[in-house]
Parts: sequence; structure tokens; C-alpha cells
Amino acid sequence: MVESGWKSSFSSPFMLSTPALETKKPQPSMKIGRVLVVEDEDLIRETIALTLSEEGYEVLTAADGRSAFDIIQSTIGKNIAPRSLGLEEAAKLDLVILDLMLPYINGLDLCRLVRREGNSIPILMLSAKGTETDRVVGLEVGADDYLTKPFGMRELVARCRALLRRHQQFQASTQAPTLKFHEITVFPQECRVTVRGEEVSFSPKEFKLLELFISHTKRVWSREQLLERIWGPDFIGDSKTVDVHIRWLREKLELDPSNPEYLVTVRGFGYRFG
Ligand code: CA
Repeated sequence: MVESGWKSSFSSPFMLSTPALETKKPQPSMKIGRVLVVEDEDLIRETIALTLSEEGYEVLTAADGRSAFDIIQSTIGKNIAPRSLGLEEAAKLDLVILDLMLPYINGLDLCRLVRREGNSIPILMLSAKGTETDRVVGLEVGADDYLTKPFGMRELVARCRALLRRHQQFQASTQAPTLKFHEITVFPQECRVTVRGEEVSFSPKEFKLLELFISHTKRVWSREQLLERIWGPDFIGDSKTVDVHIRWLREKLELDPSNPEYLVTVRGFGYRFG
């Protein structure tokens, strides 16, 4: 009953043409997040999708719980991956808008399933029921927020923004900062390096060397200092080891390893990065 009343107000034009929504149209190329809308009622699903894409979100839709779960599963690895992955960024989901009553798998069960997989993607639950019990159950199974039908599109957009902002802040606070210098990015917690956008593999010693260099750009390191810091005081061997590793690093980092731009020799002293 509530849903059908909502539908009629929903189809009125004011829902789609509120001034606040019209004045904020970002560039089409600047997608501000990827949202999955799970709703079995076509009109509601399409209206939410249209509103969010006008707001600058990239929108995926699903009309039942099973296909929604498939979409979420196919992106789960990408949700765990950091935001700075470049290409994979485009394939991950940032938010799920989830109706409670759905064919095959209902919203509560879907929410439970997603959380059981360890996926912390923000979920905004929608429901025609407005009782406190539903709200509490929704939040208990892992929804982040709850919106009761009928609702206005402006409120939906505001809730989406708030959820995304909160999630991004949380992720930023729990992720180790990446180290970046020009086209080289080091992800210390994942022991990964990208050079000019491409993933490049490094041995543990090479990685530690690069991490040290990139954390202290412009600083000159002697071969002895590098040996002590990377190989440890008990290392038996000579400083040629350092030179060999520097050469390997240059091959991975430099466009022209014989004419290095990043890892520079400082004659008589050692090496400098940047
Ligand atoms: Ca429904």
C-alpha cells in the first residue's frame, strides 16, 4: 500500500527536477563513485539510477537479490584493493542501495551474505516498512543506513554522499599512506610498486632500497650507509652489492637506465633519489 502511494508521487516530475539536483551536474568524465541499485520495482530502480547518474555516479542496476549478489561477488576483490590501483578502480563498487523485499534473495539475507564474505562496502537499505524493528534488523545484519519509502531523491542523494564520505574517511584512516614520487608509487603494506602506471615486481632487497630512497628524496646515501640500512650490520660482502642492486633498480625505474633521471650517482659520495 505504501509503495503504491509512493509510486504515484514518484512519477510526478518534481522528483526529477528539483533545482538542487539540476545545478550540480559534474563533468561526465568525472565519475564520483560506482553505485549498485538493487530494486525489483522498475520505476523506482530506474528513477534512482537516473538521479544518481545525473549527480555524477556511475550506476549499475539489479532487479533481484541473486543477480545483485553475482555483481557484488564479481567486484569483491576490487573492493579490497586500494583506490590507487588505476585500471581496477573503474571496476570496483563504492556503494550498494538495497531494497528489502526482493525476489530470490531478500535484502536482509543479501546484506548478511555480503558481510559474511568480509566485504565492507557501504550499504543503504530501502524499505516500505518503517517500523523500528525493521530498521534495527537492517542495521544489525550490516546495513550502514536505512531509508524508508516514500523518500525524496534529494534525501537519497544526501545519504549516499554521506555514506561514501564516511567510508572513504575510514579507508583513508586505516590504509598506510602510499609513497609517491613523480611516476613511481610504492605501497609499503602490500610490497607493491607501480612505475608509470604499470605494476613492476621487485625483490625484497630492491623493494627496501626503493622504499628508503623514496622516503628520503634528495638525500645522498653512501654505499656503507645503504649496506647497513638494507643488508644489516652483520652483512659480509662488499659495497659492489649496492652497485649491482642500484643497477637493477634503474632497469626497473628509469626510462633510460644508462642515463638515470631518478636514481642518480653522486660522484665520490654515493647515490641520491630525486
Ligand atoms: Ca521490493
